[in-house]
Amino acid sequence: MRALELGAALVDLVLPGDCAGCGDPVQPWCPRCVARLGEPSWPAVPGVPGVLAVGRYAGPLRAALLRYKERGRRDLARPLAALLAGPLEEVVQPHPAVTWLLPAPSRPAAARARGGDHVVRLCRALAAGRPDVRVARPLRLMRRARDSVGLDAVQRAQNLAGRLCVRPAALPPEGAAVLLVDDVVTTGATLRACRSALARAGVGVDVALVLCDATRRETRREEGPLAARER
Ligand SMILES: [Zn+2]
Repeated sequence: MRALELGAALVDLVLPGDCAGCGDPVQPWCPRCVARLGEPSWPAVPGVPGVLAVGRYAGPLRAALLRYKERGRRDLARPLAALLAGPLEEVVQPHPAVTWLLPAPSRPAAARARGGDHVVRLCRALAAGRPDVRVARPLRLMRRARDSVGLDAVQRAQNLAGRLCVRPAALPPEGAAVLLVDDVVTTGATLRACRSALARAGVGVDVALVLCDATRRETRREEGPLAARER
């Protein structure tokens, strides 16, 4: 780690109570970042009918996710989960039914390096204090899966094919409402693979809830490198 990066990482570690997006001393989001968060949307993802995203993979949302995921700011699970709470209300089952959140799995080595699975932590923060929302972890990635950075859509699909496994004992009750949850959707390869694996286990998924929409949009001006680390 270079000195500059180390310095930034230490600042991140010693300054709790800062804005999740920019680090200003306002918790959990400063007004400037809130204004730039944008609106939730339903991006078109081939092969995945319903994807509900908090916002684009850009600006303060992207910054907050990177701090949370890659720079050890595990405490940002709460402000990020708070952003998912609004979209969750759109798709959650009415009381007293229980809606199950199923985190898209990370590679075990990546999760270890990050001090735990960041999507699981996000789901737990989202379900905290809500008896109508629970977390189940039937999806696991086997060790052979490579990091998805730099792979195209076909390579990502091949990378995941057959490497996702479903643990039947960890599945939600039969017929329960199930939401897939992930941090970033780019090509949709991860969500497609998760849906297929769950379908083979007899579990249907209506909606995938994601934090960041990093799908390509023809009509949108390029926002810079969108090399999202999907897993
Ligand atoms: Zn801010």
